[in-house]
Amino acid sequence: MHFETALLHAGRAKDGAGPAPCAVPVFQTGAFEAGSAAELEEIFAGRKAGFCYTRVGNPTVAAFEERMRTIEGAASAVACASGMAASFLAIMGICQAGDAVLAPRTLYGGTLELFGDLARMGISVHLVDEVTASALDAAFDDTVRLVFAETISNPKLSVLDIPAVAAWCHERRVPLVVDNTLASPALARPLELGADIVVESISKQITGNGTAIGGILLDGGKFAWDPVRFPSLAPWKKFGPFAFTAGLRKGLFRNTGGCMAPVTAFLGCIGLETLALRMERACSNALALAEWLSGSGLVSEVSYPGLSGNPGHALAGRQFAGRYGAILTFRTGSRERAYRFLDQVEVALLASNIGDAKTLVLHPASTIFLDVGEDERELAGVFDDTIRVSVGIEDIRDLIEDFRQALS
Ligand SMILES: *Cc1c(COP(=O)(O)O)cnc(C)c1O
Repeated sequence: MHFETALLHAGRAKDGAGPAPCAVPVFQTGAFEAGSAAELEEIFAGRKAGFCYTRVGNPTVAAFEERMRTIEGAASAVACASGMAASFLAIMGICQAGDAVLAPRTLYGGTLELFGDLARMGISVHLVDEVTASALDAAFDDTVRLVFAETISNPKLSVLDIPAVAAWCHERRVPLVVDNTLASPALARPLELGADIVVESISKQITGNGTAIGGILLDGGKFAWDPVRFPSLAPWKKFGPFAFTAGLRKGLFRNTGGCMAPVTAFLGCIGLETLALRMERACSNALALAEWLSGSGLVSEVSYPGLSGNPGHALAGRQFAGRYGAILTFRTGSRERAYRFLDQVEVALLASNIGDAKTLVLHPASTIFLDVGEDERELAGVFDDTIRVSVGIEDIRDLIEDFRQALS
């Protein structure tokens, strides 16, 4: 199946038993009745496929995992309670106390805050200003066990050169973990570009209407986990390309309990059906709005990879086949002007989310970056007067008119 067909059909069961629903049905149940005691033992032992308890597995969640696995070209997928749960599991599935993570400072604020929690567990984080070979070289040492970066960073919108960074990682025998939330699989399938593990918040572009919180963790199945450097994976090596996911399912994922709710998986499947169409419209709206803002004389420093002056423009054009995402930022001149703009918009919603079909606006410095120090905040591209816009799929004329009236 090609990408846009798989968005609709992958993971839809056609087993010929019972009625065949056109949508993925919601198995809203905590547990599953077993056929016999012997069968339940087989399921618990992993010798027979089946379901026993929804924290461990559920058919609706499995259908969503299968759809995501197919469209991202992964070996295996684990659906999680949130994007943060997926990021946490990806890192903790690889690292243990004494290890280090290498990552850029331009990451999503929530991930930067998670790094503070990791420090308490003995996992340190080496931060670099930019993901360039020289910056990574300078920060690398033999405690580093993974590189974590975003395809398009939130909200600085730096674009990651996935093949180049993956090659750098593989020369040093560490996996590249990519947070693909902003790009979504409609723009980039990082596993196909060389990344080893992908995490995504499905609360954003994938559910697409701001209806749920969820996350997904995808493993390409190609990284060779050295049992000495990655001792937590040693017991799972026998599962070959499924080693990483097997370790999570038999351990950390099951035991930390951050599973996806069945109804969230249902909303994820529904969202995926229209992902490609929504992203097409959101990206073209974002480009038109960025161009209008740049020429308006009402704001400064419009940041959007689709603008020719943007540092990531050429790379994004190449890597994302001429699409540049749905998120842009601009500066208003002062925090007061930023607040007045947010209080004046009528079509756009003031909300701390992205990836909704409706346009959302936010002042990151006073919200999602509130607990990040000013220096760190500015390195992540968040100034006192920065507005972040998640562009929706409205008629672009209404968006431009709304921004015009609010800014003036
Ligand atoms: C929102 C977001 C997350 C966290 O996802 P949740 O579903 O809110 O936990 C992680 N990374 C990026 C880039 C995000 O935008």
